[in-house]
Amino acid sequence: AKAQGKNRYMVHSEEFSNQTFQSFSLEQDLRVALEQRQLLLHYQPQFDLKSGELLGTEALVRWQHPERGLLAPGEFIELAEETQLIIPLGWQVIELACEQVASWNEQGLKMPCVAVNISPQQLLQMDFVEKLNALVDSQRISRDTFELEITELMIMQDPDLAMLQLHKLRESGYRIALDDFGTGYSSLDRLKHLPLDRLKIDQAFTRDIGRNSRDEAVILTIIALGSALGIEVLAEGVETQAQLDFLCNNACNSVQGYLLGRPVAPDQLTLEVLS
Ligand code: C2E
Ligand code: CA
Ligand code: CA
Ligand code: CA
Repeated sequence: AKAQGKNRYMVHSEEFSNQTFQSFSLEQDLRVALEQRQLLLHYQPQFDLKSGELLGTEALVRWQHPERGLLAPGEFIELAEETQLIIPLGWQVIELACEQVASWNEQGLKMPCVAVNISPQQLLQMDFVEKLNALVDSQRISRDTFELEITELMIMQDPDLAMLQLHKLRESGYRIALDDFGTGYSSLDRLKHLPLDRLKIDQAFTRDIGRNSRDEAVILTIIALGSALGIEVLAEGVETQAQLDFLCNNACNSVQGYLLGRPVAPDQLTLEVLS
């Protein structure tokens, strides 16, 4: 039994060092990726529920890794956050989104809004808003084309600084969305003081429409809250017609999900919804 135990330990220890090695090399790869600009953005459309009209898109980062292929953010965002690489990564994402909007503008295609995910560390940098303004203005893009998606987690990390930054962003002319709403525990008292344009209902709730009446109750509550506070509500992760019907019947404002459009490369988005 002792030998077995030892054997097991060795297996685990090998696995462990393997993982450590893998994440170390991924970190090196990510540094190279940032230098060589291997990141790109896919865009997922968002629609108004009543009119069916295109409201905008969410920019979702991808990494074209030279050996591993196209990586989704689940495979590298956490590492980027742990290593501070999320700051340069976040700026590249914003730059890419600006370049894309400029390119759509040049082609005469009207993209009403592009939503960009902002990580807590980036938002909480003191010079974030000034740098963002400089970047967006340099491409001669209207600031209200951008919606910045932030999470409850960010607000809980440093409520006072987050509040200050959000108000600066709002005064500068950007739209602000609270992402994954319902999964954190932000106080409603704080919520009413945040300058928000949109609440995004997390897909964990959308998924259980028709299956779990408690999740449906949460969705109805978020829609009512948004309406009371004058904030638009968007449901994420809409995959079925039944989910879409429920949201429509209950006066949700807007939707995003595989049923209506997957995240795609900009050229494909152009073909699908912008032409
Ligand atoms: P998120 O902001 O909640 O983005 C929505 C995620 O749900 C995306 O995954 C999207 O592809 C996926 N999705 C959209 N519609 C559906 C659907 O109908 N069904 C299902 N099952 N999934 C759907 P993705 O692209 O893998 O991104 C994962 C997360 O990575 C994002 O979650 C966001 O938190 C983070 N992320 C993505 N891009 C960036 C970025 O540029 N910067 C930062 N900091 N984080 C990012
Ligand atoms: Ca998001
Ligand atoms: Ca989300
Ligand atoms: Ca999420």
